[in-house]
Amino acid sequence: FTVPTPENEPVNSYAPGTPERERLQKKLAELAGTRLDLDLNISGEWRRGTGAEIEVVQPHRRHHVLGVTREATAGEWADAVAAAKAARHDWVRTDFADRAAVFLRAAELISGPYRDVLNAATMLGQSKTAAQAEIDAACELIDFLRFNVSFAEGIYREQPISSKGLWNRMDHRPLDGFVLAITPFNFTAIAGNLPTAPALMGNTVVWKPSPTQQFAAHFVMRVLLEAGLPHGVINMVTGVGEHSETALLDADLGGIHFTGSTRTFQHLWQTVGRNIGGYRTYPRLVGETGGKDFIIAHPSADLQTLAVAMVRGAYEYQGQKCSALSRTYVPASLWRGGLKDAVVGMTEDITYGDVADFANFGGAVIDARAYAKHTALFERLRGDAKATVVTGGTADDSQGFFVQPTLIEATDPTHELFTEEYFGPINAVHVYDDADFDTVVREAADIAPYALTGAVFATDRAAIARASEALRFAAGNYYINDKPTGAVVGQQPFGGARGSGTNDKAGSWQNLIRWVSPRSIKENF
Ligand code: GLU
Repeated sequence: FTVPTPENEPVNSYAPGTPERERLQKKLAELAGTRLDLDLNISGEWRRGTGAEIEVVQPHRRHHVLGVTREATAGEWADAVAAAKAARHDWVRTDFADRAAVFLRAAELISGPYRDVLNAATMLGQSKTAAQAEIDAACELIDFLRFNVSFAEGIYREQPISSKGLWNRMDHRPLDGFVLAITPFNFTAIAGNLPTAPALMGNTVVWKPSPTQQFAAHFVMRVLLEAGLPHGVINMVTGVGEHSETALLDADLGGIHFTGSTRTFQHLWQTVGRNIGGYRTYPRLVGETGGKDFIIAHPSADLQTLAVAMVRGAYEYQGQKCSALSRTYVPASLWRGGLKDAVVGMTEDITYGDVADFANFGGAVIDARAYAKHTALFERLRGDAKATVVTGGTADDSQGFFVQPTLIEATDPTHELFTEEYFGPINAVHVYDDADFDTVVREAADIAPYALTGAVFATDRAAIARASEALRFAAGNYYINDKPTGAVVGQQPFGGARGSGTNDKAGSWQNLIRWVSPRSIKENF
């Protein structure tokens, strides 16, 4: 058989007067008025946690509690691990077609009846606008589910050659143990992809979403169960992960699928490393982590395209995509010849506010910790002669965790602004002499400890070629004349190396192949 050929899910505009806008607004009002119990799910059973309560709020209305979740206890983690192990026997033996059908059905449910609830939950819980929620919780999540089925089929079809009198086969087994999926707050699609990709390949999973994303994660779990996911294949634990070592140090840990901070991923790796003799098999570690994503503009770049890319790349979703632009290198001729005015004008037109008001360009940063990181930066910059805040540089948390879109000019390209990840709406600009393009490219390539996304803007083909060569290892997702955000499943497989992760390309077969441990079979006749 052949699985359905996937196509990217069309994006709804939610334009004024459309029925989809009305439906989404109704769902927003309905969900905003709930105070949900965001429970654990073990073996398909919703279970009220017994650990400390964690309130889940709307970041842009921080006094408004959306739901309550609880820190999973060591006992609850142990139950989730035991459930994943118990479900393994049957799931490993379930045909690919039957596994695939669960996830294809989930994609249909999200495309249809679950679309509004997933978008509304993502808007309220993660402070995304309707447009940003739609490309994440609806389209990208649906794309991951549909495309992964097709990529998996390609992997299973890959077989060795045989010759007369013998038959060589490849048995693409799942890993020899359960997978721990740890997912971030910023994308509901990632929350869905990280547990389902290993599960599609026949693994069972313990999934811990970020507590600041637990609201949408709750509905992702519901849709998977409604799609027919057998009990225990994916088990959801809640909280910050105080007792994650229960899973991390388990002898049956087969792999970790992680998206989040570089520090946390390194901590996970160290924990596994220290326990390396304690596993039956070497756990697969797959992680997508931090970034210090860039645009480098050549004097030949188109000014207007570049200005829009700078604003959208840095300030959509309040700069909280791993791929968000946070450092920009521009030639003096462009900067002084209208680019600065264009970018400042557009940036000052941006309104961050309540995302339920569709007129707003964005919402708040995710929580008090993210907010404090930005106010501390603004404080440092006040006494810093090497950096000038061009616009923004203010914050206000009276209603929500609002940080203004901020543009900073800095003369020293080794300043922390070009190396530190803040994960917010901060764009640092370094203005260079037009003749220094190649030097700037070379320096920018290695200054930050990350290599996730980056872009070059130029119309001069020779300049593009030189930059692309010099930046070969500086980004896993590299754009020419486009902003560094917005990778689409099946089109731009996503991931980076260096401090940005293991570069196992989400949204491609290269990710799925990490969740199999093949057996080569030779049979003589
Ligand atoms: N894939 C997203 C993009 O290209 C970013 C994912 C992330 O934040 O991890 O914008």
